[in-house]
Amino acid sequence: MEKLNLRNYTLEELETLILSLDEPKYRAEQIFHWITCREATDFDQMTNLPKGLRTKLSTHFSLELPEVIEKISDTEGTTKFALRLRDGEIIETVVIPERDHYTLCVSTQVGCAMGCKFCLTAKGGFKRNLEVYEILAQVVIGRLYLKEKGSVLPLRNIVFMGMGEPLANYENLIKVLKILAHPLGFNFSKKRLTISTVGLVKEIRKLAIDFPTALAVSLHAPNDELRKNLIPVAKKYLLKELLEVIKTFPRVKNGRTTIEYILLKDVNDSLQHAKELVKLFKGLPIKINLIPYNPHPELPFERPDEKQVERFQRFLLDHAILTTVRKSKGLEISAACGQLKRRLSTNAIYLQ
Ligand code: SAH
Repeated sequence: MEKLNLRNYTLEELETLILSLDEPKYRAEQIFHWITCREATDFDQMTNLPKGLRTKLSTHFSLELPEVIEKISDTEGTTKFALRLRDGEIIETVVIPERDHYTLCVSTQVGCAMGCKFCLTAKGGFKRNLEVYEILAQVVIGRLYLKEKGSVLPLRNIVFMGMGEPLANYENLIKVLKILAHPLGFNFSKKRLTISTVGLVKEIRKLAIDFPTALAVSLHAPNDELRKNLIPVAKKYLLKELLEVIKTFPRVKNGRTTIEYILLKDVNDSLQHAKELVKLFKGLPIKINLIPYNPHPELPFERPDEKQVERFQRFLLDHAILTTVRKSKGLEISAACGQLKRRLSTNAIYLQ
């Protein structure tokens, strides 16, 4: 019989499990602590547990992590991992250095069903949701990597901007968030966990109640007509409804919702588009993050030149919209969504 991965369990579930094994409840807290912020990968590391319990646990449960099949870094230290899951599927996770901390970009699904026209992950279609342990394992792998490297800066932020649509894997996502934010678990601050969504309005409303975190919405177009051409789900949820939910989403510690806006050459990058954005967002507690498109030979879009990106940003700033431009980290290592996986499945180069 296949062993169950213990990283799937919330603290409450571990407590129920431990009681069912006739062990005192406080053991659950000890185990929870080991498998989260102490990055245990073997039950024998849990030296404050009796040997008998360790043996019992290891007979029925595993702490297995996906296999790192490729790890590549660019010159600035952005490191991308390709991970092979139990069923052979490959996902990506990226460690990104910032000034005083690291950010981890995690995947939530194998593939994606949203079908956005500019996205490489979408091209491969949807395979399956990631299990709780498969999402958390990315965090453990990121932390172990930084520890091994002797990094003094902490892995402080997690962005759910890897492969997949996090809100389409809703139940697992909520469990993951609870484990990440639990003070006895990974102890992440809620405002340092950012869910990026294509704009699933119904699920954003649920998230606002169940577990509000920082929110990023992939807008990519300032009107319904263009948005429907780029993002199929925009036919279901019109901008009006999306804006309403952005306005009412709880502001975790006074944070601003991020509006992600990929700049696609001659598609959505004109000053007219910038003007429409101003009209939509003037006065709202948001921040626009412009993402110059990461091109790929299999996709029919181009990146605008730097001058155009600057003009677009300048226009928004001049109209009092807080606007940043995402620095393209990891371009040389195919760090854009789905690009490493694609390269791995088309030509197998294994660097370690
Ligand atoms: N499904 C979620 C999260 C994953 S994608 C979402 O849509 O937000 C993370 C971000 O990368 C999204 O804003 C997505 O639109 C963007 N993205 C996808 N392909 C890209 C590319 N080739 N270049 C730049 N950004 C891209």
